[in-house]
Amino acid sequence: MAYYAGVDLGATNVRAAVADGDGAVVSVHRADTPRGPTGIAVTEAVLSCLREACGAVGVDPDEIEAVGIGSIGPLDLAEGIVDGPANLPDAVGRIPLSGPIGQLVDSDRVYLHNDTVAGVIGERFYSDRNPDDMVYLTISSGIGAGVCVDGEVLSGWDGNAGEVGHMVVDPRGRRTCGCGHDGHWEAYCSGNNIPEYATMLAEDDPGLDTALPIDAADFSAADVFEYAGQDAFADHVVEQVAHWNTLGVTNIVQAYAPLVVYVGGAVALNNEELVVDPLRERLRETVFNNVPDVQLTNLGDDVVLKGAIASALTGGTGDRSRVA
Ligand SMILES: [Zn+2]
Repeated sequence: MAYYAGVDLGATNVRAAVADGDGAVVSVHRADTPRGPTGIAVTEAVLSCLREACGAVGVDPDEIEAVGIGSIGPLDLAEGIVDGPANLPDAVGRIPLSGPIGQLVDSDRVYLHNDTVAGVIGERFYSDRNPDDMVYLTISSGIGAGVCVDGEVLSGWDGNAGEVGHMVVDPRGRRTCGCGHDGHWEAYCSGNNIPEYATMLAEDDPGLDTALPIDAADFSAADVFEYAGQDAFADHVVEQVAHWNTLGVTNIVQAYAPLVVYVGGAVALNNEELVVDPLRERLRETVFNNVPDVQLTNLGDDVVLKGAIASALTGGTGDRSRVA
């Protein structure tokens, strides 16, 4: 029997799954992502997770035909590594992935992707229509996209195509992004940034009357969405976030002409009415060409892991006609 594997390497968790030749998952193992001391420790955790997932169903790692990996970036695809991930300590540095995983499973069919690229591969593979032109957008602690155009999943020479969270949406550049540059979409609309953005908007209005706990140490994006509909300032923040999200998605649509945009990530999944519905309404006003369907991801929290499996099965494409 042929087996395939997928790896989802996030800043918090690493998960590995083993699937059969139809893409049915037979085993999943999860572990915490080590925060150092070096990148090799992270590599070891990934290898151990994959060994555990295999061991749980009595599969020898060298029975795995191919492995897909959806990972935090930034990637260096030529080296098959993560190079200096933003959400892990600086000491982590380089995390070798493709080489050591290929050695473990004794195969050179190892496909490394940015996590949102794995996301679009998963959405494509598991979608009824297996569309050739589509986008997977995540709005979570960060913002990013995976894009498939004319049946080609775009990765870019270095693997970092789709880092759309770092598109400039605000030419005034009032917010500085975690990457160090000003006016980036993510700096206004990601889960990590919404509280700071709300605080900045509150400072614009010294006489502000709001029930939002903007001075609390644990003030979060969830608070903003919870108070929407009851608090005029919370409504204002939600409206501004919808405004920047509409600009970002409009830019993606004009650049890539997708038939469908699947949206995932905790901020979108937990707040469909306040985050996704405004996109559905406003793109009609802002997009010059064909307006795509905007749908929530069908794969929930498993979109990257499922995408990694789909990548292993389809040679990194998500194209169902390419399943061996
Ligand atoms: Zn940025």
